[in-house]
Amino acid sequence: MIKYVSTRGGIPPVAFDEAVLSGFAADGGLFVPETIPKVTQAQFQSWAELSYPELAFEILSMFIDRSIIPATDLKNLLDDSYSTFDSPSVIDMVPLGEDGRTIIMELFHGPTLSFKDVAMGFLINVLDYLLEKRNQRLSIVLATTGDTGPAAAWASAGKKTIDCWPLYPRGMITEEQERQMTTLNASNVHPIGVDNCEDGADDLDFIVAKLFSDHELKEKMNLSSVNSINWCRVVVQSVHYFYGYYRAVEQVGDKINFSVPSGAFGNLFGGYLARSMGLPVNKFICANNANQALHTIFSSGVFAKKDLVQTISTAIDIVVPYNFWRFLYYCTGSDSEKLKVWQDEFKNSGKVEFDAATLTAIQNGFVSVTVSDYETSKTIKDTFETCDGYLLDPHTAVALAAANTLKNTLPKKMKVICLATAHPAKFPETTRACLEAGTEMPNQGKHVSLERASKVCQHLRICDLENLEFALIEAMTTHSKMQAD
Ligand SMILES: *Cc1c(COP(=O)(O)O)cnc(C)c1O
Repeated sequence: MIKYVSTRGGIPPVAFDEAVLSGFAADGGLFVPETIPKVTQAQFQSWAELSYPELAFEILSMFIDRSIIPATDLKNLLDDSYSTFDSPSVIDMVPLGEDGRTIIMELFHGPTLSFKDVAMGFLINVLDYLLEKRNQRLSIVLATTGDTGPAAAWASAGKKTIDCWPLYPRGMITEEQERQMTTLNASNVHPIGVDNCEDGADDLDFIVAKLFSDHELKEKMNLSSVNSINWCRVVVQSVHYFYGYYRAVEQVGDKINFSVPSGAFGNLFGGYLARSMGLPVNKFICANNANQALHTIFSSGVFAKKDLVQTISTAIDIVVPYNFWRFLYYCTGSDSEKLKVWQDEFKNSGKVEFDAATLTAIQNGFVSVTVSDYETSKTIKDTFETCDGYLLDPHTAVALAAANTLKNTLPKKMKVICLATAHPAKFPETTRACLEAGTEMPNQGKHVSLERASKVCQHLRICDLENLEFALIEAMTTHSKMQAD
């Protein structure tokens, strides 16, 4: 049976269902599999033609024992999760430009138009499945930079086993993103807009982490997390790397590059996991905006907390890429003692400097770059003008700009897949402003679901960061009392 341990080494190994239901490990660490399973050559060759749900089934079967989710149930959960996508293939691949070397992998065809839907729908369905079996309920509390919240809200809507509490920094996400949460008519979804978050969603993450460390409260409220610290999300995020690989290479076995707009490192960790399982990846390009915590680590081995910079790619305005700890755990050869020392040092001083051997391990197969707002907006404009009106959202533009910057350092002709993490209609003001002055938003920058959400009432709950902890506990307590009545 595959077991999960904590990166901090402070708990006995648990099974998949435990890891997924609890979110964080009880010692404050992140769950990781004891060992990463390897794909055999025969399996790897035989998966090339599978559909996305079929491929997900094969990969997830390596991480979830049949005794926890039997094969037919797993298949059904996957089919359900991807039936809400508006592309029949779930993920679309769009070659850009003439040489066919750059390929956009569209991960935004889910119900809330960002890549978060790819893993969130399945995670929530799995939680619901496990909870129903145990006759339990769960309250999910999560902080969002704008895309996780809507994805969690939509996936949770109407689930009898789940209450969903997305917290978002008010004024720092788009109105479209806010409305995806506040116009959802579901009595189990309770978004809260939080004012005065100087560090954006990181301020909210801090409060969420605080709530989780209060064991009494965690028990009482049955709290769990679906932020990308949840193992299930991370493992699902390895599937699209395999899927994109098979659609892009000329021959199975060829190497390929991926460019990923990165914030919390959840998506890239999925890539790392895929490579560790055996996917032939040449380089991962870690694309940051001005919040360049990851670029600083990859280029200098320093993990330091800096002030938040507001950019036009808001979903990756993240100060602490918390999934990096997971990656680091494997880079040290699963040395949880080392990790504990670093994590504590980071908590106390906001900075860790890695030794030379660790830095070499970190840099293996990764390159990084910081993309300015100017480059992001120029990339949107240039792509629109030279690629038949293909409209990028600001995050995908960060990935493409990074790929363009580093292309010449990569082997000639080797393909680069750029992960398209959001639909441009989620960021209409920014996106349109990048085009020629006076240009109306073209149709490819609109989406019916958002147009509908713009016309209906919002259910708004607002509070100040200062009072959030109290206000949230109060709201949750009241809600559970009302349910009990
Ligand atoms: C969440 C998100 C990202 C970043 O993913 P991480 O896993 O946090 O690195 C990039 N783009 C968009 C649009 C997102 O919503």
